[in-house]
Amino acid sequence: MKKLFILVAVVVTLSCNHKAVSVSEFLSSGEWVDLTWDYEQSTVYWPTNVTFKHDTVFYGINDKGYFYSSFKYSAEEHGGTHFDAPLHFAQGGRSVEQINVEEFTGEAIVVDVADRCADNRDYLITEDDFLSWEKDNGTIPKGSIVLLNTGFGKYWGDPLQYTGTVNSGALGVEELQFPGLSPEGAQWLVKTREIKAVGIDTPSIDFGQSKDFLTHRFLCGNDITAYENIANLHLLPAKGAYVVAAPMKIKGGSGSPLRIIAWIPEKLKK
Ligand SMILES: [Zn+2]
Repeated sequence: MKKLFILVAVVVTLSCNHKAVSVSEFLSSGEWVDLTWDYEQSTVYWPTNVTFKHDTVFYGINDKGYFYSSFKYSAEEHGGTHFDAPLHFAQGGRSVEQINVEEFTGEAIVVDVADRCADNRDYLITEDDFLSWEKDNGTIPKGSIVLLNTGFGKYWGDPLQYTGTVNSGALGVEELQFPGLSPEGAQWLVKTREIKAVGIDTPSIDFGQSKDFLTHRFLCGNDITAYENIANLHLLPAKGAYVVAAPMKIKGGSGSPLRIIAWIPEKLKK
């Protein structure tokens, strides 16, 4: 009875004091930020992948006298800003179309390790980085989308700086050098904070020199999705942004191109 009274009091208070705000009014009070890189010929792919192709099917005035254009593209799943489904490193794991859309959205926390990565391209993000984020921001909420800002986003457009190599094939793989999430850090996030997904502004959630991809294997094995080659993380606040990460719905896909955007409330705009 007491609970019912409190509920009625809250509803009456809300309806008396607050003018109804529509969803679009609410959203337009904040700002949408694009966390996605363009897909084009120079988009970063793994050294053993075929790069993105975009060819003209038709461009110009057609035989009926009006303008028309159409192109065709081809892409490997894991290049540019993209999504990793659990199937990527877990046999029997979910493929892209099997993931509930609710899992593509959530509150983001942004862990800034750019200082530590600036003088160490092999930097591995650990539990200590998350604990130091928590000192300033409180406990990482359950269901968070954890975005890792290594600062490497600023090197996009300069493949040597961004990935550590301009070579393709096995030699390119050998030379890859960029920071990543340590397997222990991934385990801590999943086991103690029950996060929803992880994203990073480098080509891989495992660091470039990884040979066994333990972070991928742990995340995929625990049914957690990941985003790679994310853009513009420096524009997001440490917490309070809301992310929508919508991958192309490839049936049976282990990953796919990703359009990822974030909404920042007015008061948190940088
Ligand atoms: Zn991937």
